[in-house]
Amino acid sequence: MTKPLEQILSQDSFNKNDLVTLLNADEQQRQLIFAKAAEIKEKYVGKKVFYRGLIEFSNLCGKNCYYCGIRAGNKNAHRYEVTPEEVMEAARYAWENKFGSIVIQAGERSDKNFVRRISEVLKQIREMSKGELGITLSLGEQTEKTYREWFESGAHRYLLRIEVSNPELYGKYHPNDKKHDYQKRIESLQLLRKVGYQVGTGVMIGLPFQTTEDLADDLIFFRDFDIDMVGMGPYIEHEHTPMYQYKDQLMSKIDRFYLSLKMVAVLRIMMKDINIAATTAMQAIDPLGREKAIKVGANIIMPNLTPTSYREDYLLYEDKPCTDEDAEECKRCLEARIHMAGGEIGYGEWGDSKHFRKRKGEN
Ligand code: SAM
Ligand code: SF4
Repeated sequence: MTKPLEQILSQDSFNKNDLVTLLNADEQQRQLIFAKAAEIKEKYVGKKVFYRGLIEFSNLCGKNCYYCGIRAGNKNAHRYEVTPEEVMEAARYAWENKFGSIVIQAGERSDKNFVRRISEVLKQIREMSKGELGITLSLGEQTEKTYREWFESGAHRYLLRIEVSNPELYGKYHPNDKKHDYQKRIESLQLLRKVGYQVGTGVMIGLPFQTTEDLADDLIFFRDFDIDMVGMGPYIEHEHTPMYQYKDQLMSKIDRFYLSLKMVAVLRIMMKDINIAATTAMQAIDPLGREKAIKVGANIIMPNLTPTSYREDYLLYEDKPCTDEDAEECKRCLEARIHMAGGEIGYGEWGDSKHFRKRKGEN
């Protein structure tokens, strides 16, 4: 017999059945989960929302994940790499506007020149901001040497989504070759921790063939890995990808959105002091998606600082938002919306994961 939702919410720990019940909550019941998550968020991480200015450095990628619009095999994508001067301009904007941190994200490449260019940019940002700007990287799987080089050049957080924690499903969404190996992704997460990064991971929600049980396992994966940060959001189809063939089997976008909100809320209840991002994909479905995620547990937001001329080309999925707003416009509207969602912006602070600090014995 399944337990009543109220009983589950009063527990301190949750088994897989409990998580499935929470994720299956209907419209009325999910309000109880959201209220509990908001209460826990306020108690353990407070009202503050931290900015990570997002720089989509390049859409060149050597991989072929079946879901992604910038996969190597998509010959329709117009490829770019932001110049070092443009990265510095975006980083300076973030620093001068007291964003606290930036994220540098790109397709996965590991050639020497790419690794070196990233190291140089990291050192320049550190110098320009006198070490005040926190830097998160999201550049895929790399060797320990590369992770170390970037860490020593100034990055201190790294985001590498496991995408889906079930290895069998992972095999369905990726080519079956050495470049797309589930085990290697896990090892990369372990390497990142070994090198000293605050480690973030995440999953896509509402993928074809994915069940509520799989999502419950994803939450358990985050807990067992003792992860510091999570960025997760709805899967959104892209016409020029192999996974587009399953578009008729997907749940509606709005259902994917609410399932994602429940994932954020349940994760906040489970892992009280980690950083959770309100992701762009949530905003792609609901214009107020990120603010809704903040209300139910997220505490990180990533305003887009990519030069507007490149935004249309970093198209991971259809209807990606904010492709035509410049940084100033984005900042103004976001500020107002975060206040509306009951949050305060942690200007000028790194907003590191409290969970990480605690594990390190720092507080
Ligand atoms: N290349 C790096 C990597 O894969 O780790 C970082 C950049 S990649 C574009 C960032 C994230 O975009 C991926 O981890 C994936 O979860 C997400 N993504 C890609 N295609 C997506 C889609 N169709 N819908 C939602 N998210 C998607
Ligand atoms: Fe490349 Fe990342 Fe997209 Fe996979 S998800 S194709 S690694 S950019």
